[in-house]
Amino acid sequence: MNDTIEHIVVVGGGSAGWLTAGVLAAEHPLRVTLVESPAVPTIGVGEGTWPSMRDTLHRIGVSESDFFRECDAAFKQGSRFDRWVSGADDDIYFHPFVLPQGYGDANLAGAWQRAHPQVPFADLVSYQPHLCVQGRAPKQASTPEFAGVANYGYHLDAGKFGVFLRDHCVNKLGVRHVVGHVDAIRSKDNGDVAALALREGGIVEGDLFVDCSGMQSLLLGQHYGVALLHQRHVLFNDSALAVQVPYAREDSPIAAQTTSTAQPNGWIWDIGLPGRRGIGHVYSSAHSSDEDAERHLRAYIAASGGPADIPSPRKLGFEPGYRERFWHRNVVAIGLSAGFIEPLEASALALVELSAGWLADDMPVTRARMDTVAARFNEAFTYRWERIIDFLKLHYVLSKRSDTRYWTEHREAASIPERLQDLLQLWRARPPSRRDFSRIEEVFPAASWQYILYGMGFRLEGAPRASDRPDLADDAFREAARLTARMLPALPSNRELLDHIRRHGLPRI
Ligand SMILES: Cc1cc2nc3c(=O)[nH]c(=O)nc-3n(C[C@H](O)[C@H](O)[C@H](O)COP(=O)(O)OP(=O)(O)OC[C@H]3O[C@@H](n4cnc5c(N)ncnc54)[C@H](O)[C@@H]3O)c2cc1C
Repeated sequence: MNDTIEHIVVVGGGSAGWLTAGVLAAEHPLRVTLVESPAVPTIGVGEGTWPSMRDTLHRIGVSESDFFRECDAAFKQGSRFDRWVSGADDDIYFHPFVLPQGYGDANLAGAWQRAHPQVPFADLVSYQPHLCVQGRAPKQASTPEFAGVANYGYHLDAGKFGVFLRDHCVNKLGVRHVVGHVDAIRSKDNGDVAALALREGGIVEGDLFVDCSGMQSLLLGQHYGVALLHQRHVLFNDSALAVQVPYAREDSPIAAQTTSTAQPNGWIWDIGLPGRRGIGHVYSSAHSSDEDAERHLRAYIAASGGPADIPSPRKLGFEPGYRERFWHRNVVAIGLSAGFIEPLEASALALVELSAGWLADDMPVTRARMDTVAARFNEAFTYRWERIIDFLKLHYVLSKRSDTRYWTEHREAASIPERLQDLLQLWRARPPSRRDFSRIEEVFPAASWQYILYGMGFRLEGAPRASDRPDLADDAFREAARLTARMLPALPSNRELLDHIRRHGLPRI
């Protein structure tokens, strides 16, 4: 019997489906078919990415200049958190994409706490918050595509991104695109999926099926009944109201970071693209009515310079959780079909990239070898989901807001994963280190944990240690300040560089 894997079928044409199809088709000479329902729209949100998206786009062979032009994309250099700790006007901290200067060489947090407690931690150890405050781009017009002076990801228009990826996958990578609604699933005797039957007629056979069907999880969740592990007891948000808002003027500055502003029962994202802002309120339906959430959204938009007459926001609901396993038999779920928690820190597309990359790298040659790859995939991604949950929860655990039940309940011990509680104990004595997050592709490295901890007022206790190396920490602080002074005048504004890219493009590598 020939059990060679020759034909991959991706179900779903959202960002997850096209990114996965692109990565697989760019890497392998396998046949890749993507089936997309004409009746079920894509989710249409998901506009903040990580720097990993640069590698993914490069890997599938797109031009970064085309991507900027066609996806209304902008640079993202990290996240800014407003009002998360006390709720006051000056309650602001950054989680930049650049690692702290001197990261791993010295106890930066200890030296910061002892010698410079009046300066925000990220401002002392990194030039990037300063670039963000000044709206600087992370590179110059002469910097080649995908290269950066400072590390960056993207803000993009999700709808345009889907079309851009589809055209590239179909025209350049040879992905077969089938527009059809999967109505039924045909099984083999051994329980594997054999083929998909389409409502429009016809069937699509395959050897390996990638379920990118969005929240309904057509193959993994519905067909195989793989359970969703609910996380509502840890992270309460399950609703969002999203809206697109024009700039006051055509030449208004474009923010260099995603701004997340805490609200009484959730938080608001604010993402700047060249042509508009994307703004949304994520909240817990157990703590807020939709009307209240909309009122806070409108108040935020008005206070941040947006128009008074915004269109009605789009309501999105989600059940926070992830699947008990992601790869079952010859089906692997990637994207919303695998799970979704909430968009704080924008980890969903990064997980799609990691999943697609893993699948491409470890693609089983035969069905007989598939179960070994599946077991490793399931172990790795369960670990990743758990770390993401811990990391997101950290933002709520460290808040000192007490204005609503939403914030105080987030700090109740019963809602905090045990592993996170243990780490917080440990980190009273020393900062998060690589030892705490030792996998090669950690979703959030120890540096990210440090930015959140010290941005939110967590403090080390106990006496300094010989290994703290305050001399090296001081060197690092000076180097961060020197780089800030050098970069600020040398880098164009976001809008200047994006206008330049639109007209002239960036040098190809
Ligand atoms: C409020 C909110 C904000 C978010 N913000 C971010 C963010 O800033 N950054 C980030 O990384 N992520 C974010 N996400 C997550 C992000 O939107 C998704 O991870 C991403 O868009 C991928 O979605 P998807 O492709 O899995 O699903 P979808 O976009 O829902 O696509 C599903 C596809 O499956 C197809 N399909 C469904 N049923 C069938 C059928 N029967 N037959 C054939 N085809 C079918 C549909 O036609 C569609 O093409 C956010 C999510 C939400 C809810």
